[in-house]
Amino acid sequence: MAPTTATTTTESSSPARAAVSEARRVFDSGDTRPLAARARRLRALRALIIENEAAIEAALWSDLHKGSGEAQLTEIGVTLAEIDHTLRHLRRWARSRRGPLPLALLPGRARLVPEPLGVVLVIAPWNYPVQLLLDPLAGVLAAGNTAVLKPSELAPATSALVARLVPRYFPDGAVRVVEGGVPETTELLAQRFDHIVFTGSGTVGRVVMRAAAEHLTPVTLELGGKSPVWFDDDAHLRQAARRIAWAKFTNAGQTCIAPDYVMTTPDRVPALVDALKKAVADLWGADPRTGDDYGRIVNERQFDRLVGLLEGTEVVVGGDHARAERYIAPSVVLVPSSGEGSPAVGPDAAHPVLRDEIFGPVLPIVPVASAEEAVRVVNGWDKPLALYVFSSSARTRRLFEQRTSSGAVVHGAGLIHAAATGLPFGGVGASGIGAYHGVHSWRAFSHLKPVLRKPLTPDTLRLAQPPFTDGPALRLVQRMMRRG
Ligand code: NAD
Repeated sequence: MAPTTATTTTESSSPARAAVSEARRVFDSGDTRPLAARARRLRALRALIIENEAAIEAALWSDLHKGSGEAQLTEIGVTLAEIDHTLRHLRRWARSRRGPLPLALLPGRARLVPEPLGVVLVIAPWNYPVQLLLDPLAGVLAAGNTAVLKPSELAPATSALVARLVPRYFPDGAVRVVEGGVPETTELLAQRFDHIVFTGSGTVGRVVMRAAAEHLTPVTLELGGKSPVWFDDDAHLRQAARRIAWAKFTNAGQTCIAPDYVMTTPDRVPALVDALKKAVADLWGADPRTGDDYGRIVNERQFDRLVGLLEGTEVVVGGDHARAERYIAPSVVLVPSSGEGSPAVGPDAAHPVLRDEIFGPVLPIVPVASAEEAVRVVNGWDKPLALYVFSSSARTRRLFEQRTSSGAVVHGAGLIHAAATGLPFGGVGASGIGAYHGVHSWRAFSHLKPVLRKPLTPDTLRLAQPPFTDGPALRLVQRMMRRG
């Protein structure tokens, strides 16, 4: 392993280099290792959030028109829950454990000792700019690392606020912030880190992984994709539609685990459309534009892309939009068959709404013949980050659990697994590498180091050293090694 010496000050010409150098200096000082220091920094992170709740809410409103209720639930509350959970369990996770040794290595002792990795880079997207920056940070600090944070330049108010607050709550430089876009991130990625946590698109995820490979830096990649829904539950139509609408249109659909498209049988489409229409009105009122609870699209580029997705569809709910305020109503669409023999939904679908990640308030309903057919659709392309199943049939639920692969499966709801602190959160295949939250963050950002101690007497290792003479002693050692 390369030595963890501080970068020389002459190299610290850019903010990126200076930040990494400073974070490495603090790590090398050993000050982040004691449990008490880790807990102190977690409490500092907690204080940063609690003492600045109003400023955080204001920044989220400015960046995404995120109302107070949603901000509290999906950004502030969920991050505080992660910090508190970590503080509660830190001592237990940090304990070294006895490790097993084969008979042939006795007498001796082995322990498994968790150790911090070093300096961790956290790169966040704009859609949950507080949660997706500070939630991984809790795990990074708990494991005894220092951190460099790169907030998204597309959520500028949140980015500026975090950059202003972090030095106040981490005056020793254990957490540093580097603001900026592609040039600054590229400069950061050229530095050597001990781990990189990236949340964002698969395209940039590939850029990050390539840069990490230069330094053999391990990565956690939290990516996106199209998360499908299977709906066949007429019995709970209203309830299911309400949950689908909530999961989809929260944060105006700009959620990595938002339902991307709903598959159901053709006979259920009209009832589902009606129920979704009612659910949207119940949740955000007859005109969501006038309320404080419905978000806006992050910028004009994304707005234009999403409005473009409505073209060539039959809009059955919503569809209205206003560019001046980047508003797009919660919209449900049907996509007429292209009649060219191309599949309805999948990587080769004719319409982009059925091909690319939507990441906005447009929800296509895709009629498929059966649950088995829906399983074939899911398996026909990238493994999704989440899969949602609304079915009162245990057989159908099992079918999706056992015959598809995804970051998570949730029956009867959407989004909620992201709030379960004890469960690993992450993707599989194209939807991500690695997972975090709670103890899984601890595992991701620590190294479990085996430490062995072998007494010099009696000298049992003599039996494993040459010259080897075939005899009962050697055969005994071989037998003991095989038994483990
Ligand atoms: P993005 O990949 O465009 O940007 C993410 C971060 O990477 C930003 O901080 C940005 O500054 C940086 N970046 C952008 N281009 C770069 C480049 N060429 N080189 C280096 N760095 C670069 O993603 P986004 O638009 O902010 O977020 C949307 C995507 O993130 C969606 O695909 C969504 O599904 C995914 N996402 C995943 C999760 C998850 O937990 N798995 C959560 C939220 C969003």
